[in-house]
Amino acid sequence: MSPLNITSKLPNVGTTIFTVMSSLAAAHKAINLGQGFPDFPMSQELTSLVDKAMREGHNQYTHMDGAIPLREALAEKVSYLYGTTINPDTEITVTPGGTYALYTAFAALLQPGDEVIVFEPAYDCYIPQVGLAGAKVVTIELVFPEYRINWAAVRAAITPRTRGIVINSPHNPTGAVLTKEDMTELAAIVRDTQIAIISDEVYEHLIFDGLPHESVLKYPELLQRSFVCFSFGKVYHCTGWKLGYCIAPAALMTEFRKIHQFNAFTCDTPKQVALATFLEKRENYTELGSFLQEKRDYFQNLMGDTRFKPLPSHGSYFQSYSYAEISDEAEKAFAVRLTKEAGVATIPVSAFYRHETNHGVLRFCFAKKEETLDAAVERLARL
Ligand code: PMP
Ligand code: GLN
Repeated sequence: MSPLNITSKLPNVGTTIFTVMSSLAAAHKAINLGQGFPDFPMSQELTSLVDKAMREGHNQYTHMDGAIPLREALAEKVSYLYGTTINPDTEITVTPGGTYALYTAFAALLQPGDEVIVFEPAYDCYIPQVGLAGAKVVTIELVFPEYRINWAAVRAAITPRTRGIVINSPHNPTGAVLTKEDMTELAAIVRDTQIAIISDEVYEHLIFDGLPHESVLKYPELLQRSFVCFSFGKVYHCTGWKLGYCIAPAALMTEFRKIHQFNAFTCDTPKQVALATFLEKRENYTELGSFLQEKRDYFQNLMGDTRFKPLPSHGSYFQSYSYAEISDEAEKAFAVRLTKEAGVATIPVSAFYRHETNHGVLRFCFAKKEETLDAAVERLARL
């Protein structure tokens, strides 16, 4: 027992479901379609560029706000994809991952007593991060089974204390994507208010079926009140890199950087140098969606031989399935049993809600080699 008592800042928080399910998968030698990470190799071109950067001596602290060539390459990408001009000096900061970018945005924005609207199912870091910043979370359920936003419910939830709305497209865990109409609704709701948008776009390029990515970066009216957060780890299939960035207007970014400078201060230099060169080729970001769509289609096709029923997924690494025909167990219990008995780990979607829910849905990560998906579905088809 420790002689020291500390008061928990997160008294109701346990270990994240991703670690719980990955540990269970390892303990039972299950195929892990739970936590979102690819098992195929990342781009060899990109790893060679990191090797080159290290050999050329890019091994010391780079600029606090991110390597300048990388910020310039990102501004060029944003201009090409969304027709928006971003100032790389004042409006982009490179961060150690998307999670850190989100945390810093909440820390910069929020004061005790503020309220933040979060849609559930919600990626698991938002609610604790808002709490740590001293603010209160107001949750709104996405409409099952498409996981659409009910904009009337958003209007009803706004109070004079509302300070932020968190959006996430493509969406984790469901693969739902926001439409132009959603962005129009959002813009109308926040117009003439002091509400900021925290837009989690870590799956930016990973969008399918010819749908456009409705980035906040496309909407100047929204962008002027937004922190937009990205992850290189997700889009370049190197989740272990933990490198991302945030884009925000200069006034918001000034506050973001005040926190960043005393936390990480700066991020891994050789990877930033490598990414700056890598991004010079447009195909290194324009072809990511079709690559992942092939994986989704391959997985969906295999899953046709099982009793799991697909829910729509238009982006991300993930596809949810209903298991109503197989069991009426609660999601967590079913996911645990599936890992132990069938040898396939997944994520119960109920883990992305604060309160008890059970739609009988599991999230599967299809960002895997074909042989991994083949082996997993062979097991699932026996159920
Ligand atoms: N947001 C969402 C929706 C995610 O799925 C993840 C997981 N990669 C993150 C943020 C965090 O990204 P990173 O690993 O770069 O911190
Ligand atoms: N974003 C990943 C997922 O949704 C996991 C990242 C993590 O483990 N924190 O599976």
